[in-house]
Amino acid sequence: MIEFRNVTLEYPVTRTLALDDLTMSVGKGEFVYLVGHSGAGKSSFMNLVLKRALPTRGEIRVVGEPLTRYRGRRTALLRRRIGTVFQENLLLEHLNTQDNVAFTLRVTGVPQREWPARVNAALRTVGLEHKKHALPLQLSQGEQQRVAIARAIVSDPPLLLADEPTGNLDPENGREVLKVLQNVNLRGTTVIVATHARELVETFRHRTLTLRKGKLVRDDPYGGYAL
Ligand code: ADP
Ligand code: ADP
Repeated sequence: MIEFRNVTLEYPVTRTLALDDLTMSVGKGEFVYLVGHSGAGKSSFMNLVLKRALPTRGEIRVVGEPLTRYRGRRTALLRRRIGTVFQENLLLEHLNTQDNVAFTLRVTGVPQREWPARVNAALRTVGLEHKKHALPLQLSQGEQQRVAIARAIVSDPPLLLADEPTGNLDPENGREVLKVLQNVNLRGTTVIVATHARELVETFRHRTLTLRKGKLVRDDPYGGYAL
């Protein structure tokens, strides 16, 4: 699903080495945590996968294709194949749950007659069918993040990237969101979660990649938080 071969990302001007000769791969259907201190390179990794940044050296393949093939208009195709969830849920506050989720389908050009079934399936996956008509402000923070996950998966992307998805949540809501991400994974989507949440990484065990100063220092198939 993702393959990095000797990837280095050095930001221009400051010449910060955000990723240093990173070689790793994530297979189809995996659930993987990406951990590391602030500044270790987690967001840079996500940015490279989404082609928001270009590597200084090395090769990246995403969903079977080298990133260099996703040029011009095909960059949009790449991003359509990747669902994203961030710490801030970025919901449209004037739209209710189902319209926020359907928004992705509008943007990606899915015919409108397919929307209800797709939206309902996504809301079922995150356990929020009963909140279809609620506005974001009528939902708890955890529920809002679950709507954001539904929005990210409604077009059935093969890959979901979540960057600190529980960063704004209390422990209980964090666990709920983690369970939802596992649910998404069980339905076949490859999931990568960049996180600082030690308790979650220790509780819900999955392969864990640890970055330190842009280098991959640990790849633990059974998980665990070792910083
Ligand atoms: P993390 O997500 O693990 O906190 P980042 O990938 O955001 O780490 O950052 C890795 C390093 O790259 C840090 O030293 C950070 O200051 C630097 N960095 C991140 N984004 C930029 C940027 N746009 N320009 C210059 N340096 C950056
Ligand atoms: P938490 O404190 O866990 O973040 P909230 O107190 O915000 O949760 O919400 C608890 C429940 O009440 C949620 O199911 C949410 O949907 C509902 N809720 C919160 N605010 C409103 C509101 N203004 N109108 C209707 N339902 C609400």
